[in-house]
Amino acid sequence: SRRRTRPWARFAAPRPDVPSFLSGLTGSFAQKADENPTVAMVEAAYRATGLDVRYVNCEVAPADLAGAVRGAVAMGWLGFNCSLPHKVAVLAHLDELAPSAAVIGAVNTVVNRDGHLIGENTDGRGFVEAMLTRADPTGSRVLMFGAGGAARAIAVETALAGAAHVTVVNRDAGRGQELSDLIAGRTPATSDFISWDHTIAIPADTNIVINATSIGFYPDVDAHLDFDSDTLLPGMVVADVITNPPTTNLIRAGQERGCITIDGLGMLVNQALVAIKLWTGKDVDGAVMRAVLEDLFGTAD
Ligand code: NDP
Repeated sequence: SRRRTRPWARFAAPRPDVPSFLSGLTGSFAQKADENPTVAMVEAAYRATGLDVRYVNCEVAPADLAGAVRGAVAMGWLGFNCSLPHKVAVLAHLDELAPSAAVIGAVNTVVNRDGHLIGENTDGRGFVEAMLTRADPTGSRVLMFGAGGAARAIAVETALAGAAHVTVVNRDAGRGQELSDLIAGRTPATSDFISWDHTIAIPADTNIVINATSIGFYPDVDAHLDFDSDTLLPGMVVADVITNPPTTNLIRAGQERGCITIDGLGMLVNQALVAIKLWTGKDVDGAVMRAVLEDLFGTAD
């Protein structure tokens, strides 16, 4: 039946017995949008929750970003995701930045509040939410491989969520040191940087090991991080950002050594959960989204 309650006031029909034909609009602006599975999982979640909201996946070139943002505002979109290459460039088009997005310096989610655009970064929060289902980062010592966009978001949010110390391990020393300085300077955590020019031994007092590099992403599924997997100890949390395939060599090594493993699908699902809540005010079912992703990328664990 078309006679359903509207999801929230903005799209509420004046009378509940009169159908409205105006859906809420959300979506994504990216280049190489055709490779982004977010639309499939978010639309499945909207459907499963009975939300009359759509998610439109848009191919947007850098030169067209300003026009795309203006268009979204003109059409009354609730908000949109920004993926590569727009996560930093979009800042020039926003009215306000959420505190953690300001520290991270990148935005993956924009919320439209009556034409006032607020930039959020849900990547790191998604990672933390996924981790909280298995382990509490409070007071933990973290060792993170990588210093790119995903690493910045994860490190800042993990530190803001209570991690005591973050060691950044990265190949490019400039990027790695900069991220370590950011954590030490702008979050309550302490931090150090290790140049990744040798095989890394995980210190025994490490609680959480994170791969935030692109190593292991399809088609390089056999790639290994250059570290001594015998230094992974039972009870350590081992997390990977790689979504395709979800069971990476790192996750497998963690499973074999009695670690608590968290794959990249958890982060991908939870960053969308956080974004949907910001746009619609509603909690949707993460299991529905995970099932879509497992269907696309294969089952983990
Ligand atoms: P960036 O390009 O910003 O960063 C890539 C990082 O990987 C850098 O630290 C880079 O090191 C490192 N790296 C890449 N190749 C190698 C290598 N051969 N040896 C050592 N280090 C290497 O990418 P992003 O941070 O945006 O994305 C990283 C990964 O995270 C991607 O695979 C992406 O799909 C995934 N991701 C997953 C999300 C999720 O929800 N699960 C969300 C966002 C991203 P260097 O600085 O030395 O170049």
